[in-house]
Amino acid sequence: MVPMVKADAYGLGVAGAVGVFEEEDPWGYGVATVPEGLAIRKLGVERPILVLSPAPADGIAEGVAAGLTFCVSEIEAVRRVVRAAEASGRDTSVHVEVDTGMGRAGFDWREVGLWGPAVRELTRGAVHWEGVFTHLHSADEPASDSVAIQSGRFQEVMQALDAMDWGGTLSHLANSAGVLRRPDLARSLVRPGIFLYGGAAGPDLSPPGEVVTLRARVVLAREVPAGTTLGYGATHQAQRAERWATLGIGYGDGLPRQLGNRGRGILAGRPVPIIGRISMDLTVVDITDLPGGMGEVGDVVTLLGTDGAERISLEEVAGLAGTIGYEILTGLTTRLPRVWLG
Ligand SMILES: *Cc1c(COP(=O)(O)O)cnc(C)c1O
Repeated sequence: MVPMVKADAYGLGVAGAVGVFEEEDPWGYGVATVPEGLAIRKLGVERPILVLSPAPADGIAEGVAAGLTFCVSEIEAVRRVVRAAEASGRDTSVHVEVDTGMGRAGFDWREVGLWGPAVRELTRGAVHWEGVFTHLHSADEPASDSVAIQSGRFQEVMQALDAMDWGGTLSHLANSAGVLRRPDLARSLVRPGIFLYGGAAGPDLSPPGEVVTLRARVVLAREVPAGTTLGYGATHQAQRAERWATLGIGYGDGLPRQLGNRGRGILAGRPVPIIGRISMDLTVVDITDLPGGMGEVGDVVTLLGTDGAERISLEEVAGLAGTIGYEILTGLTTRLPRVWLG
């Protein structure tokens, strides 16, 4: 397994995430950029670290010196890694990305006869060609035949490379949805991300256990008379005497602004609607219908996760915000303390 820990472990905090994953003895870690890889080395991790995005030329030397494994999508990138390895006297490895339909990176699968031998020639010295991989574009979609098509193309590429004795041993293609849908395609390594962080990998794929909860405290609670207006734009107006609880969280923490007048929180196991627009630092929930004057300063409101019998899933929040769970998690800002449990 290669847990993907790019984007600060999908927004959750890479130090905490790596601490958890280390206990599972993964083969290595996957990041997008050189600085992300260096940050993991600084945690003391000695396993392979794959830099999956095409790397800008100015980061290669530092990455090679730190023992990062570059993923390459063009011959010139292989040459840059070779030059950095020769200059530093440090051997390194590369993984070759194959574009089987994703389009954003990778050598064209149809042209393996051209780039295969060229990469082979460049990787007989300081640089070892260790792996080949591709990335699935629609493994989350139940009805799509794209996984079969892409894996078929990848299979063709691997046959061509094996026939020319490319020199490496590792091949991989599965993200979370890929490995859940087609475990038979796992090959040597799998690269799950979202599933490890509690996000469903596809609408028909069983969701993981809960990983992330987002909580805020009530910083002010009060009763307001009918007619009182709320928030920027005064988009909510009390229809009767209402009780409102102001929470110390806003879009500046990553709570999507689209949840204004649409989303909900959970207070003491009961749903409380978000009313008015969400501001940068504050969000208000309607606690009028809570029994017995419940809802006081200091109470905890859950905005993502479970409280009692109520649960707000990542997919619910993402749906209301018109996006995907990935963007909700990576949008959680540094102002939020990350508290790792267990
Ligand atoms: C982000 C990423 C993954 C993980 O995808 P999930 O859908 O989060 O499981 C795997 N491989 C590559 C190349 C990625 O960029």
